[in-house]
Amino acid sequence: MPDMRLIVAGAGGRMGRALVRAITETDGAELAGALEAPGSELIGKDSGMLAGLPANGVKLSGDLWAMSEQADGILDFTVPAATIANVAIAAERGLVHVVGTTGLCASDDAVIKSVTKRAVVVQSGNMSLGVNLLSALVKRVAQALDPSFDIEILEMHHKNKVDAPSGTALMLGRAAAAGRGIELEEHSARGRDGVTGARRPGDIGFASLRGGTAAGDHSVIFAGPSERLVLSHQAEDRMIFAHGALKAALWAHGKPPGYYTMDDVLGLKD
Ligand code: NAP
Repeated sequence: MPDMRLIVAGAGGRMGRALVRAITETDGAELAGALEAPGSELIGKDSGMLAGLPANGVKLSGDLWAMSEQADGILDFTVPAATIANVAIAAERGLVHVVGTTGLCASDDAVIKSVTKRAVVVQSGNMSLGVNLLSALVKRVAQALDPSFDIEILEMHHKNKVDAPSGTALMLGRAAAAGRGIELEEHSARGRDGVTGARRPGDIGFASLRGGTAAGDHSVIFAGPSERLVLSHQAEDRMIFAHGALKAALWAHGKPPGYYTMDDVLGLKD
């Protein structure tokens, strides 16, 4: 089978650079394009050099339509508006669209899902093996413990992260809610401040810390009467997300149109 030709969206960003490195070191994958925001000062720069590698001749461009003519997939870790703009072009071109961007709202998610009758999309707020295993564990523990155990989710990320709570924290919250058989949207407590009153029974709480260079720490705390169970994951390097995204793209290549998550890629579906 020929190499999968991949476009990296947000190629000048932290994740974009990691993705360029991951593609370069992975058999079966080839860098077909490097997308940046039109008007970015990085347009025209070499994506290999930006990623700390030797020059690879793939220059950053703002024109996804042109670069996707000879591509099979797009790895998209950008900002919600860019991801939503990429959805239609990726579907039209028949690209596997791996969506890692977080901070998407419900209507953004609806746009992404709207193309999956004719296109392949893999979406996850966290593409690492460890967090996806953690999510499966959280669901099982939430199922096993009775509601006297309060569930709180704590996350810490680097100081430049722009959205909160993290996509991963929300993903873990959804896993806990699924284990409890409830809807997260109706049972979530975010950003407590001031005189909040006592904790509402059954809520899943979120707290976000920001600082330094942390690539992503998450803890799910099950706080019960006289005991606490804590499940944690620490990302030490964002290459774990890049390798996960690449694994997702290679897995999805040739799959029928549909909406997939890392549970499908990693075989973690119930
Ligand atoms: P970042 O360093 O800010 O990178 C985002 C990049 O996207 C920037 O280079 C930005 O360019 C570029 N961009 C903005 N608009 C664009 C457009 N219209 N077309 C193409 N590129 C565009 O952020 P990051 O740390 O790499 O994270 C990116 C996203 O991935 C965030 O949502 C983050 O939460 C998420 N993430 C997900 C996972 C996961 O496993 N799912 C893991 C880590 C991060 P400018 O700087 O010029 O605006």
